[in-house]
Amino acid sequence: RNNAEKFEFQAEVSRLMDIIINSLYSNKDIFLRELISNASDALDKIRFLSLTDKSVLGEGDESKLDIHIKLDKEKKILTIRDTGIGMTKEDLIKNLGTIAKSGTSAFLEQMQKGGDLNLIGQFGVGFYSVYLVADYVEVVSKHNDDKQYIWESKADGNFAVIEDTENEPLGRGTEIRIHLKEEASEYAQEDKLRELVKKYSEFINFPIYLWSSKEVDVEVPADEDEEAEKETAGKDSTEEEVIVEDEEDEEKKPKTKTIKETKWDWELLNSVKAIWLRNPKDVTPEEYDKFYHSLAKDFSTEKPMSWTHFNAEGDVEFKAVLFIPPSAPYDLFENYYSNKAILKLYVRRVFISDEFDELLPKYLSFLKGIVDSDTLPLNVSREMLQQHSSLKTIKKKLVRKALDMIRRIVDEDPDEKFGENETNEDKEEASAEKKGKYAKFWKEFGKAIKLGIIEDATNRVRLAKLLRFHSSKSGDSLTSLDQYISRMKPGQKQIYYITGQDRKQLEKSPFLEKLLNKGYEVIYLTEAIDEYLTQNLTEYEDKKFQNASKDDLKIGSKDEKTKFKEVKESYKELTKWWKDLLADEHVESVKVSKRLASTPGVVVTSKFGWSANMERIMQAQTL
Ligand code: ADP
Ligand code: MG
Repeated sequence: RNNAEKFEFQAEVSRLMDIIINSLYSNKDIFLRELISNASDALDKIRFLSLTDKSVLGEGDESKLDIHIKLDKEKKILTIRDTGIGMTKEDLIKNLGTIAKSGTSAFLEQMQKGGDLNLIGQFGVGFYSVYLVADYVEVVSKHNDDKQYIWESKADGNFAVIEDTENEPLGRGTEIRIHLKEEASEYAQEDKLRELVKKYSEFINFPIYLWSSKEVDVEVPADEDEEAEKETAGKDSTEEEVIVEDEEDEEKKPKTKTIKETKWDWELLNSVKAIWLRNPKDVTPEEYDKFYHSLAKDFSTEKPMSWTHFNAEGDVEFKAVLFIPPSAPYDLFENYYSNKAILKLYVRRVFISDEFDELLPKYLSFLKGIVDSDTLPLNVSREMLQQHSSLKTIKKKLVRKALDMIRRIVDEDPDEKFGENETNEDKEEASAEKKGKYAKFWKEFGKAIKLGIIEDATNRVRLAKLLRFHSSKSGDSLTSLDQYISRMKPGQKQIYYITGQDRKQLEKSPFLEKLLNKGYEVIYLTEAIDEYLTQNLTEYEDKKFQNASKDDLKIGSKDEKTKFKEVKESYKELTKWWKDLLADEHVESVKVSKRLASTPGVVVTSKFGWSANMERIMQAQTL
């Protein structure tokens, strides 16, 4: 449109669109569920507003909250229309082109590494996937606060926005007109659209209609045979069947026959069922998998690691479904402290928010799920809800259920036994599917468990049970603290560990010589976060944690102790001289050590000081 206002796409958005438009081999199907997901989001928004102000819904067709999909086969235009919140002119300019979302560059990076376009929705740029199938897109939108506008772009680096004076008024909402590319003509088939909606958009909470044709039986008088045939000749009518009426009526009534005729109507494609309202016993694993994918906007073929679906009763009633994703999201630990732990919150079936971070502690932010509460009030603002006293109860129960769910993975996939206590009975095999599942969980989310121990004192013991480590006895496997304790030597009171950058280096550490020689097991802590972990987890099952590189390390029997005192005495002169010599080097003291076997001397950290590894971490400022 010539007189439209022209804009340039923000640079990253433009690059993203280039990638999309040129991606020949990726799964193009995804565009439809991204657009339906946007329509559904927009519908959720207006429904939420209508809770406090019914008038926002209007009185025409727009008062019904639904999605309509229509095809113009001749012109190859696919239209998706919703009665959602709509976009103002400013929204159109910002949301569809000039403001890059935080996920844009992350997504570009992933794509460069050969990432999966299927995950586009997770990066908050799903709209642009429409250019997988379109060479030209028009977005007509009407928001209650503005006039109706048209946004249009051929994905050539520019887009244009103009007030809409040519189309029918929408009332409210958005209509996306997709001008299909030559190569995307398969989407100009109703069957294809029907299949895609059923496959990917089953759990959308608003009705989705498709304008579709159906062959219906129509009775026509037999004597109008010829005319009827003429009438339907151009249509798809095929079979015909002559019905002979009852003998007696034969003379009174003319003969009739039934012919097939093509009728057009809106066909409802989904059943708008809320999976969480159903009895968990009646929901199949496949349904949970599908629900997870639509909830997480993850359309890879990987299944969630686990789920829990429960109904909390009592003072605070709610239903919830929580999932552990198959893998950690790309930015889980990158900006951990600015992350939000978000579940979708519904109140009595009405979607309230997916920006609510009061429902889960941060360390569980990797979980996906929904909560639907009957106890929370419907007609208050989000801010009021955020302070509602029930939230604390809900949160507590959710955390407990989440930890149970993780615990269940462990139970179904028992730790490998190794070391001295191994017996044949211990070698229970987990089923093939479950085997290694906890190790996988640990690899993806182990850090979150450690963060939990640091952040969540109430559940520290529960979380500590979930910890896994490499140790001087674990080989390639991982060990739990319970396993460590079961292998402790008689008289051993402490759990020995050492921190450092990598296991190889730790294995050679002189700090360990004596401990290892005496057959003690030492846990290797190689993640930066482990330094914080050991500050917060100081004991487990009444056993204190002991850093092998700190100066309060005690090993050995009483006899050895008295002998050691004598040795210390005889070296008093030397240690004093040495300490004075190093006075300017920040050395606190020089001591005779028991921990070394063949190395002549080591520099250690005082019990209350930072370990060398912590120094390294603080300097690098990484987590
Ligand atoms: P996301 O949905 O993750 O925010 P998208 O790229 O899919 O990212 O959409 C970008 C933005 O465009 C949305 O956040 C929304 O503000 C706006 N938008 C897209 N489609 C619609 C629609 N049908 N109705 C209203 N707003 C929409
Ligand atoms: Mg979207």
